[in-house]
Amino acid sequence: MKNIAGKTLWLFILSLLLLYFACSLEIDKGNHKSLNSVSKDINNCKPQSFISTIKSDIVTSEERDLKLLTKAKGMIRKIETSDPEKVLFLTFDACGQGGLSDGYDSLLVDYLIKEQIPATFFISRRWALKNIKYLDYIIENGVNIDIQNHGTQHIPLSSVGDSVYSVVGTKGLREVHYEVETAAVFLCEKLGEKPKLFRPGTAHADDIAVSYVNAMGYQVISYSVLGDGGATFTKELIKENILKAKNGDIILLHFNHPESDVFLGVNEAVEELRKMGNIKFGIIYDYLSNR
Ligand SMILES: [Zn+2]
Repeated sequence: MKNIAGKTLWLFILSLLLLYFACSLEIDKGNHKSLNSVSKDINNCKPQSFISTIKSDIVTSEERDLKLLTKAKGMIRKIETSDPEKVLFLTFDACGQGGLSDGYDSLLVDYLIKEQIPATFFISRRWALKNIKYLDYIIENGVNIDIQNHGTQHIPLSSVGDSVYSVVGTKGLREVHYEVETAAVFLCEKLGEKPKLFRPGTAHADDIAVSYVNAMGYQVISYSVLGDGGATFTKELIKENILKAKNGDIILLHFNHPESDVFLGVNEAVEELRKMGNIKFGIIYDYLSNR
């Protein structure tokens, strides 16, 4: 009798010990997991510091151009491809400069997602802050959509404070840094990593500003086909612009103007190109050799 009671006691103590170790292992595992994921996210999205001296041939070159251009030195306007098909790069911007610029074209975005058409979306922090639910929707549903950086204030990238279309650009490299990095950190907190591509507001920059952004580790993307003229072109013209695009062209369009003809023009052009065959749409980032 005494023997059985002793055995039961030992079994009871053993069970308690096993339970204790199991629980402590579980708690330990859980804590490490959450601590790791938090520190990883913070590291990914930490803002990089301002680079006070940039090493670049452009900075010291006599030929540098401080005018705001869509084809400043170092900007990427076309992509080299070696695919057997013609590859076109559809890009859609969301600018958020107030009024109609703050909109969201759900017909267009849902069409791109439903048809799984690869596209690059350049999103400004200014637009995103007014459209968080749409940004979240695109991140959740747009597996064919690559989200990239369209700036914090959506202003031209100037190293001297120049303007374009009456929009005053950044005044010096500290403001260039803020314009790029603040939006990069904001998008990183949504995406889990910083976007590596940047398109300035109005798609204008000067040589030195581009050099600076390159030194930060980002590529500056312009365009070779003005697809929708700031979402002002007619359906026919948008369609024509996309249809006449050549291999490697980056086509500039917008998804922040639901009142425009962008959806109709894109929809008709894409359907016609599909019928013609021997063509595909590419994500810019996937095709960059020096990424
Ligand atoms: Zn824009």
